Amino acid sequence: MSYSLSVLVNLPVHANISGPLTYVHTHPLDTGTFVRVPFGKNEVLGVVWADGSKEVNQFNQKIETEQVAPTILTEATPKSSKLVLKPISSVIEGIKPLDKQWLALIEFAAGYYQRSLGEMALQALPPQLRDLDATQIARRLRRSKTERNELTAELTAATSELKTGSLQTLTSVTSHVLTDEQLKAVEEIQNKAGPFLIFGSTGSGKTEVYMRCVETVLAQSQTAQVLVMVPEINLTPQLEERFKHRFASLLNTNGTSCVVSMHSGMTPAQRLQAWLAAHSAQARIILGTRMSIFASLPNLQLIVVDEEHDPSYKQQEGARYSARDLAVYRAKQLGIKVILGSATPSLESWHHAQANNPDTQPSKYQLISMPSRIGQALMPKVQIIDLNRQPRGTVFSNQLLDAIKLRVQKGEQVLVLLNRRGYAPVLHCEDCGWKSACMHCSAFRVFHKLDRTLRCHHCGVVERVPRYCPSCGNADISPLGKGTEQLEELLGNLLVEVRQSNGQPLNILRIDADSTRLKGALTNQLAQVHSGEVNILVGTQMIAKGHDFRKITLVAALYPDTALFSSDFRAPERLFSLLLQAAGRAGRDAELAPTSPSEMWIQTQYPEHPLFHALKDYDYPAFALEQLKERVQAHLPPFSFQALIRADARSQSDAQLFLNTARDRAPLVLQKIRELRATSKATWLAVEPTLYPAIPMTLQRVANIERSQMLIECDSRVMMQEFLKLWQLQLHLLQPEFKGIVRWVVDVDPLTI
Ligand code: ADP
Ligand code: ZN
Ligand code: ZN
Repeated sequence: MSYSLSVLVNLPVHANISGPLTYVHTHPLDTGTFVRVPFGKNEVLGVVWADGSKEVNQFNQKIETEQVAPTILTEATPKSSKLVLKPISSVIEGIKPLDKQWLALIEFAAGYYQRSLGEMALQALPPQLRDLDATQIARRLRRSKTERNELTAELTAATSELKTGSLQTLTSVTSHVLTDEQLKAVEEIQNKAGPFLIFGSTGSGKTEVYMRCVETVLAQSQTAQVLVMVPEINLTPQLEERFKHRFASLLNTNGTSCVVSMHSGMTPAQRLQAWLAAHSAQARIILGTRMSIFASLPNLQLIVVDEEHDPSYKQQEGARYSARDLAVYRAKQLGIKVILGSATPSLESWHHAQANNPDTQPSKYQLISMPSRIGQALMPKVQIIDLNRQPRGTVFSNQLLDAIKLRVQKGEQVLVLLNRRGYAPVLHCEDCGWKSACMHCSAFRVFHKLDRTLRCHHCGVVERVPRYCPSCGNADISPLGKGTEQLEELLGNLLVEVRQSNGQPLNILRIDADSTRLKGALTNQLAQVHSGEVNILVGTQMIAKGHDFRKITLVAALYPDTALFSSDFRAPERLFSLLLQAAGRAGRDAELAPTSPSEMWIQTQYPEHPLFHALKDYDYPAFALEQLKERVQAHLPPFSFQALIRADARSQSDAQLFLNTARDRAPLVLQKIRELRATSKATWLAVEPTLYPAIPMTLQRVANIERSQMLIECDSRVMMQEFLKLWQLQLHLLQPEFKGIVRWVVDVDPLTI
């Protein structure tokens, strides 16, 4: 006898099939079971989507329609009259099936972000689970079991007095006496339902609040699991350390730690291990980056999203999901609490945490404010240097340079922020005007002096710096503009006479994507900063976030101006957040504060800009209010919903024509939606999405591919969803007619426009 099974496999939406495929097996399998199935010439991992409790013969008819129905390209797919269903290859033993909630999360995410179910599901799983066959996985499971057993033997002695999974011993470990603000936050989270938005200054003790809430949840149940998400774990190693340290006594029966990490810096084997620990509920605390939102956590009881405003929560490739938004969804789905935290919340979250009228219209999120820094440390005083009053070409104003000298002579540290790596963004010839344009992209190749290369940061092409101008042969080619490499060199020259308090020459360190390319480099460099041996730290936004540098008392941002006039409406929000986060790196040591109050210097050509005014007072609410006013007027998110369709093609006109042709079909799609819902009285049916004409992307050409985009706006989220679903069919239908199209993607709630 055989039974039919619906199985999810990794089919990108472009394969024109959006639903599960049908296979047969000798007996029914539970929904969520892992199987290997034949697919084309390969065998791939699949997840049973619906169990086949019915025999095949009876349901032949049904299977046939199912096989076709999920294909979104009904017209273009040949309907074979005789479907021969293939049997599955094997069932993966030893891993219990994924639960219904997990599958529901995937279903939601696939629908919302306009991807196929199979793609969403399979990409949410660790790569090794996809790549290893059933035997290899079985071997892996056996091995990790012995490893754990060996570890147990070692640890039994050490942990004999600890009760498994118990928190009794935790209180003895490193917890502070909470401040009033922290206490209030913890109580509020305990007593209300959330979602919560903790709006707390950098260094206000948010992490301590998270840890208390985690403790409470774990203490309430012996099996509870919590998910703590951070933007980039490599950039915030301290948070990982703090959690691991705090919950070090939380062990499994077999002696393994209940705290696991999940991020892309781990090896495939480590990722599988962590995933299995979460899935089997052995892991109680999962610390992870955006990918961890899809971890299978059968006993999930709490989600924390630290630095919730951070753009890295949005996946920018493949299925473009927002892990922060999915966290809120997942919490709601499970009826559990979610805590978002930031010193500069995203305007979306901030908006949700404001009540229009507290009596009649309460806010969607509970706002919890923690304005004070621990130990009365103050935020640094903001000093603004008007570059218009400085000699042309000033990199460091004299005032700033003097301030830096003073700090390093006192043994304090300085952080200089410039969001551009390399030596100079462009190399040029003064004679003929040649510039180091990339031959494959509409961008300049950046001059890296250390290895004398010209590098394109978009397509990756690397070339040695030419000795003579490639166009006129002139030997005088010179750098234009400044990058972090040049700042490092310049500071070294300007401060060559200056000595540290111990008489030694200054130690200047640069941290950016270039300096940290080698494994372990970042950890090493951060350790140098923490140990105090570094006097001046030069770097990109990498160093602006999260780090708890104790001795930094001066932060300087050199040219933050470009973001003020960007075509992207979120640029000011990101700049404000970056500058405030950077300022938050200073003055963290309250003991230094009375004798050496900290400072944040900004050199700008627009000293009167409202953004800098708000920053001067660290008045995020005022900044947010202004921004939200502008957004209401311009009808931008969070007051409308957006999606972006991007098409890549051989020529810009091909890309635009494809998008614009699809745009012409929008009225038909809309009409169809209304026909299908003729009997419904839903108000969203009256809402019209707006499709703007296709335009070239800001970075128009990358690696010889022309890129174009079309913005879609809609006041109703439901209409946006319904519209995109059906309109995408049109794009699929059109694509074969447009030979030049390389690919196209839909980005729902795009972060960069
Ligand atoms: P945030 O996450 O808001 O930036 P942290 O939780 O990192 O702030 O706290 C900043 C510093 O203050 C950390 O070194 C932390 O150990 C310390 N800290 C937090 N809460 C307290 C407290 N109640 N008493 C004393 N120190 C605290
Ligand atoms: Zn020239
Ligand atoms: Zn390039």
